[in-house]
Amino acid sequence: MKLTGKTAVVTGASRGIGKAVALALAGHGARVVVNYLNNQAAAEAVVSEILGLGQEAVAVRADVGCLDDMKLLAQTALDRFGRIDILVNNAGLVRDNYVTFMKDEEWDSVVDTCLKGSFHGIKVVGREMMRQKSGRIVNISSDAGLMGDMMRANYAAAKAGLIGLTKAVAREFAGSGITVNAVAPGVIATDLTAGMTEAKKARQLEWIPQKRFGTPEDVAALVVFLVSDEAGYITGQVVCVDGGLNM
Ligand code: NAP
Repeated sequence: MKLTGKTAVVTGASRGIGKAVALALAGHGARVVVNYLNNQAAAEAVVSEILGLGQEAVAVRADVGCLDDMKLLAQTALDRFGRIDILVNNAGLVRDNYVTFMKDEEWDSVVDTCLKGSFHGIKVVGREMMRQKSGRIVNISSDAGLMGDMMRANYAAAKAGLIGLTKAVAREFAGSGITVNAVAPGVIATDLTAGMTEAKKARQLEWIPQKRFGTPEDVAALVVFLVSDEAGYITGQVVCVDGGLNM
């Protein structure tokens, strides 16, 4: 799968799944805009790794929940590389609490990042892709959006919403040569899951048929396929990468 000459914007690419996606896209020939929020040094390190692969990359700070930030992110990508072919809406966070104790701030921060952030990305980049009459959008949802998750009403609602957003936009963009798909990871070993208690880890492992947690590279491999020319007839789908957790 060749992505040579294509430009990708990956949100939340300083760590975890986003970092693996950025490196995998670059490994297949894409130029990458590495978005981050707080960890500039980590984002610059991802850029250095990509430059080491012989590809171009730039790190851009933007809060996906802020439309003006996202407009600047898209403009920086266009100024630097002239076009945007691939958008991976990956930035996300968890703020766990029992629903009856959940504060509005815990709800809003998760929904703003995981759902509104993707809306912003699609809004600012989709316009450009429609002009180009081509593009690939991948939204990183979660098994939580399909199955629910304890103490994660905010996260599960946002990730389920992201699936609705994916399908609605897939229909809107279908005539413009743009595909829109969602990837639903299960439990992937990143900072986001590092804080799980040993009891929760053991319980999760019991439920996963393959009896292991996923790696960021497991998710990145699917994203590379979904943004390739070969996946041109796949749109509006949700694909799980979860060792069989949700089937
Ligand atoms: P992670 O290791 O915690 O990394 C989160 C990334 O998102 C970081 O790069 C962070 O940037 C960025 N970010 C957070 N808030 C942001 C904002 N408002 N604007 C821009 N960037 C922001 O998380 P991960 O495990 O790789 O998760 C990546 C995605 O996969 C998320 O959408 C998550 O919900 C989803 N997912 C993960 C799992 C899992 O088990 N890990 C399972 C299902 C779905 P900074 O470094 O600058 O803070």
